[in-house]
Amino acid sequence: MEEPMDRVHENMLDGNAAAGILDEIFGGEMTASPTECEHCGREGELGSLLTFTQAPGLVLRCPACSEVMLRVVQTPDYTYLDVRGAVYLRLARR
Ligand SMILES: [Zn+2]
Repeated sequence: MEEPMDRVHENMLDGNAAAGILDEIFGGEMTASPTECEHCGREGELGSLLTFTQAPGLVLRCPACSEVMLRVVQTPDYTYLDVRGAVYLRLARR
């Protein structure tokens, strides 16, 4: 990544900033849902991931290795969800 780090941090919000979008997709509060990074094995709550909202859509990165764990892109009709960077995402049944 060629961007200077201060610029990167400027565009970074904490995972709770993504709460609204994730609530809409999964139909409930998601920030406390556990997940595991596919790249480094770190386990933690969705709310602890680094959130970038300036990228096209929403990007959640692992706070340990900075790799992308989850991407969300919304068009007027559809939501695209890319979770290749997560081993799992655990959702409470309702
Ligand atoms: Zn990681």
